[in-house]
Amino acid sequence: MTINPRMLILAREAQGLTQQDLAKATGLAQSTLSKAENGLRPLPEADVPQVAKVLKVTPDLLTWQEEVYGFGSASFFHRKQQSLSQRTLRKIQARVNLLRMRLVRLSDGIAVDTSLTIPRIDIEDVETAAEAARRVRAAWRLPMGPVPNLVNIVEAAGGTVVLRDFETHRINAISVWHPGSGPLFVLNSELSPERQRFVLAHEIGHMVMHEGEPPRDTAEKEADSFAEELLMPAAEISKDLGGIDVRKAAALKPYWRVPMQSLIIRAEHLGIISTARSRSLHAYMNKAGYLTSEPAPLQREEPQVYKEMLRIHVEEHDYLVRELAQVIGMTEDDLADEISPPSRRGLRLVRG
Ligand SMILES: [Zn+2]
Repeated sequence: MTINPRMLILAREAQGLTQQDLAKATGLAQSTLSKAENGLRPLPEADVPQVAKVLKVTPDLLTWQEEVYGFGSASFFHRKQQSLSQRTLRKIQARVNLLRMRLVRLSDGIAVDTSLTIPRIDIEDVETAAEAARRVRAAWRLPMGPVPNLVNIVEAAGGTVVLRDFETHRINAISVWHPGSGPLFVLNSELSPERQRFVLAHEIGHMVMHEGEPPRDTAEKEADSFAEELLMPAAEISKDLGGIDVRKAAALKPYWRVPMQSLIIRAEHLGIISTARSRSLHAYMNKAGYLTSEPAPLQREEPQVYKEMLRIHVEEHDYLVRELAQVIGMTEDDLADEISPPSRRGLRLVRG
């Protein structure tokens, strides 16, 4: 069994452990781990099971030969204070990488029937991000007006959406699109249902316009502008936004299925209200606590693809949980949680 040093690093980072932490937990010398991670001297075979156990992966996973990628796109909640520690960032990145590798393994042998695709659009060709959004709406044959379940649409177009607890509010989402598979959107499970829709639309904008391109300063603005036009097309929403205030935003929210805050910003960007008016509404929302928790939350859009892939293996392909855990390099306990996650309500009760 030859360990792939990159997988050893990835599995360690996914647990948020330093080399020192791992040495302590396994009783191995840090120099042994360091040399194994640098590819200088392979990890002694007898120590592999213990290391894998601490890292909550199968020994086999440590031999996988996959490439490890950096971020495709990461969206931050507090753009001005990106004081996210390197360790947290690497931990989230490692988890997304593992998830992507597992998805590739799970999709082996499962035919995905999809007539839609997620188009790639060069923004130079269409001039504005809003035009890119209109082309995506047309490609997906979306009806006029509000977008129905966006998670369902993007998954029908070959994407996979997964909600994950990032253990921080500072990061909204991570998206990656690697050759040979559909784009993966990992969204922070702490987002409100309406914020989740906007963040997903923003990330779709990155995948459509920016993935694989050199980074550009205007990318964040473009993704926001894409998300606004995708969810709130100017031609259809303008008539609704006249004289918008907080009460009206609350009334429009269930129909357009976007945050009240996004409706107000949209009105400002379309020149329907002034920047000063938008700011004063923002201040009012802030005072009322609506920026952290808006009234009348929408129903959450639940992703299906990943769960469905697990379900097909267990129910239709007759995999035992132990066998499936082996295929995707996961512990049986973790896999059991993925198949039937503990309910949110239950968790809240435990936390008191
Ligand atoms: Zn972004």
